Amino acid sequence: LANKMAVKSSIIFKNMQKMGIVIAKNQIIDKHTAKIISEAMGHKVIMHVDNALEISLMKDRDINIGNKKIRAPVVTIMGHVDHGKTSLLDYIRSTKIVSKEAGGITQHIGAYHVSTPNGIITFLDTPGHAAFTAMRARGASVTDIVVLIVAADDGIMPQTIEAIRHAQSAQVPIIVAINKVDKVGINIEKIKKELMKYAIISEDYGGENIFVSISAKTGFGIDELLAAILLQAEMLELKAEYDCMASGIVIESFLDKGCGPIATVLVNEGTLKIGDIVICGLEYGKIKAIRNEFCYHVFTAGPSIPVEILGLSGIPSTGDLFTVVRDEKKAREVALYRQSKFRDKKLSFNKKTNIENLFHGIDDAKKISILNIILKTDMQGSLEAIKDSLEKLSNKFVLINIISSGVGAITESDATLCLASLAIIIGFNVRADSLAKRIIETERLDVRYYSVIYDVINDIKKSISGLLKPVY
Ligand code: GDP
Repeated sequence: LANKMAVKSSIIFKNMQKMGIVIAKNQIIDKHTAKIISEAMGHKVIMHVDNALEISLMKDRDINIGNKKIRAPVVTIMGHVDHGKTSLLDYIRSTKIVSKEAGGITQHIGAYHVSTPNGIITFLDTPGHAAFTAMRARGASVTDIVVLIVAADDGIMPQTIEAIRHAQSAQVPIIVAINKVDKVGINIEKIKKELMKYAIISEDYGGENIFVSISAKTGFGIDELLAAILLQAEMLELKAEYDCMASGIVIESFLDKGCGPIATVLVNEGTLKIGDIVICGLEYGKIKAIRNEFCYHVFTAGPSIPVEILGLSGIPSTGDLFTVVRDEKKAREVALYRQSKFRDKKLSFNKKTNIENLFHGIDDAKKISILNIILKTDMQGSLEAIKDSLEKLSNKFVLINIISSGVGAITESDATLCLASLAIIIGFNVRADSLAKRIIETERLDVRYYSVIYDVINDIKKSISGLLKPVY
């Protein structure tokens, strides 16, 4: 633990004493205690599915705690295809970003930020939920607010519902932007009423979701939308440390022929500077250059401001976390260690999830185990029947939580939701489509196919009583 936090073990002992945890010198502590101690010492701890602890090296964190300042909200735009996600991102980009130097053209780097009279907003500029869930799957929550775009002439469509589920399962507040209001013969009230079925309730119906009518084509309502985002952000009280070594997340990355690996990152805490040494996923490096959306070189990047960084040893993945450390040699060691662990993990042909280890997802507050299920069936009738029977299996120790259900094939969206929320997928008389198959195979998701309702219920029942052996 001392190694991971890059401190002397005596310092850990001292901190433990302060917290009233007293142990003998070589006594083993469990992971929960390790987590509590590390967090109390100002480190960020992520507990992985395989129970491995990832402790980010943030030596300076504890010194600066309590010195947080407001940061810009990070927004993802989601919604059904053709409802105007790209148009909205393009409209905001082209009208609201004013380059400080003449002739500055924004480059696509995966995110951009705009300054409005009320504050700065950062948009992830990969529309849709693929990037959103890819990041969540890695345990990173980069989005503060989701703007759900619904075309007024089309209404609630399947991907609208998927987007709602993704945002709700990530517990990210949703602002609804009703788009294409420049068209004639549209009915906004109908959309509002329909969204209530999905627990999206507008303020005029007594709910908490902000609704804004917009046109991504004419620009109508866009200023109101930006103001609404900042209002929502204010309620969230988004704050970050500015004055410490930076940590954050990778939004995009690629290999540039001339410059080598380039990653777009978003700083969560601290300020990133040229010359900083970073550990970034399986890579490490000394930052050679920092560039903003205009491809202009800058010296630093603070919280919520997207920048490209140059100088990494390789290309990190979207959703990888990065942390600035002091010692380049240590950074290299950590990266190499992670690479070897990653190879080991790839070799051991374990499923990412299976019912047994999913049940470890214990809700500490309620002291019950939770099994998240995504259910896909061929017909509405079987969907209702299976859903009802499964939910009835919940008891005071186990909660069967159907996070998403629907009629039709298992899609890419089901697979990414499964990955992000540590669920299993049950396919009843349906199969996975080719995109979903790719994710299921590479991530080794737990997907179970059935054609008899009794078998579904029985399998889950058995696994609840711990009888079912993991299927590899
Ligand atoms: P995406 O698939 O959600 O990214 O949707 P797009 O942004 O590509 O938009 C789909 C189509 O709707 C395009 O032809 C746009 O020009 C059109 N569109 C987008 N926003 C509006 C709008 O506010 N009004 C009208 N009339 N058309 C729009």
